[in-house]
Amino acid sequence: MVTAFIGLGANILDPQAQLITALQALQNLPETRLITWSSLYSSRPLGPQDQPDYVNAVAEIHTGLSAHLLLEQLQQQEKHQGRQKLRHWGERCIDLDILLYGDEQMRTDDLTIPHPGLTERDFVLQPLLEIAPALTLPDGRRLQQIVPSFDGALTQLYRPVIDL
Ligand code: ATP
Ligand code: CA
Ligand code: CA
Repeated sequence: MVTAFIGLGANILDPQAQLITALQALQNLPETRLITWSSLYSSRPLGPQDQPDYVNAVAEIHTGLSAHLLLEQLQQQEKHQGRQKLRHWGERCIDLDILLYGDEQMRTDDLTIPHPGLTERDFVLQPLLEIAPALTLPDGRRLQQIVPSFDGALTQLYRPVIDL
């Protein structure tokens, strides 16, 4: 089993409920257990500004799936929740990114791990720090050494109840 961290985001069609649905779905993926999850956070959109604020969270899973099979499962779940590709960094009802997959570092056509946004996005760093404060990244840097921009655009909401 590999420990992986998944970044969740949504900003349309009841984003909080979409994240809770997706967290529940992580627990139901083949060969996968949901270990823990962060609070929900509200964040300003990246990219186009004429879209609603986002709700974000991070989940820790243990999985027997390869990174590519995990990506496939996450994309299937996005589809299942009705995600449509409208515009780059545009509104979506669910986005599921693989942030980390064990200590793996890879760059293929369809998969880059660690996720390139991980160290630059407060809405990823803050929830990750909440659930894994002692985490070390595959390049040896400690998560706590990475200084978030703290631009004040992130608001911690609440930690949802998920039935395991
Ligand atoms: P960003 O990746 O900057 O957060 P996004 O999530 O809006 O942007 P998507 O449209 O959801 O981007 O995904 C585009 C492609 O990114 C996917 O088809 C997938 O193949 C690729 N991808 C590369 N690395 C990852 C990763 N670590 N997790 C999820 N998708 C990834
Ligand atoms: Ca994303
Ligand atoms: Ca994505």
